[in-house]
Amino acid sequence: IPVRYIYDNNYFNDPHQGIPKGGYNELIEKLYDGCDVILETDFLSDKEKYTSMADHVVYTGTIDAYFDYCYGKLEYRSLHFEHELLNEYNHQGVAVMNYTDSETPFTRKIEHKHFAFGTQEKTVVTREYPAEWEDGMEPYYPVNDEKNSTLYERYKELGEKEEKVLFGGRLGEYKYYDMDKVIESALNFVKQYL
Ligand SMILES: Cc1cc2nc3c(=O)[nH]c(=O)nc-3n(C[C@H](O)[C@H](O)[C@H](O)COP(=O)(O)OP(=O)(O)OC[C@H]3O[C@@H](n4cnc5c(N)ncnc54)[C@H](O)[C@@H]3O)c2cc1C
Repeated sequence: IPVRYIYDNNYFNDPHQGIPKGGYNELIEKLYDGCDVILETDFLSDKEKYTSMADHVVYTGTIDAYFDYCYGKLEYRSLHFEHELLNEYNHQGVAVMNYTDSETPFTRKIEHKHFAFGTQEKTVVTREYPAEWEDGMEPYYPVNDEKNSTLYERYKELGEKEEKVLFGGRLGEYKYYDMDKVIESALNFVKQYL
């Protein structure tokens, strides 16, 4: 008989966990305050034009796409999300509930209101399903096996030859990063290159 002694539903082992006050949107909006922002635009649709607009360019898209997949495509893991608005005040009591059993097709259920101690009458939940990545799908996680890591190294070498363009972040470096790690990496990046 399975017995639960604790109510620790953590997905992570980090001693400190959280999100910025007001969420990441507020943080990003403040970071970009006073900057020109162009949205809904694929940088790769006119690489030369956008590169000529600045002294330094930090490219955070997929590195293989930047080089037009000249050595072949890197592989990713993808996900599929299902969102639902429920007529309930509280669905699961916590922000994240993990499902590790083989009968449940999704791996976790997110109840968004609990991230910010929401008191809304209704609640929005998202079920997260693993999905095979196919061309055109959102690349969520890199597959850091030998084949892909070797391929990435070849793109990285090409990247190092670019004069103005620096490659950063989870897609530019083909690396899994948590938020705290990617922010740390961005701050080090600025110190090192800019
Ligand atoms: C499903 C999922 C859940 C996660 N959960 C957590 C979590 O709970 N805790 C945690 O700490 N971390 C989590 N992470 C990791 C976190 O999201 C990443 O560490 C972080 O977003 C990486 O930042 P980034 O700037 O490298 O990449 P992104 O946030 O992906 O930013 C890259 C940006 O580049 C833009 N871009 C790409 N290509 C182009 C192009 N050609 N032209 C113009 N723009 C382009 C994209 O639109 C995007 O805005 C999660 C990641 C995923 C995928």
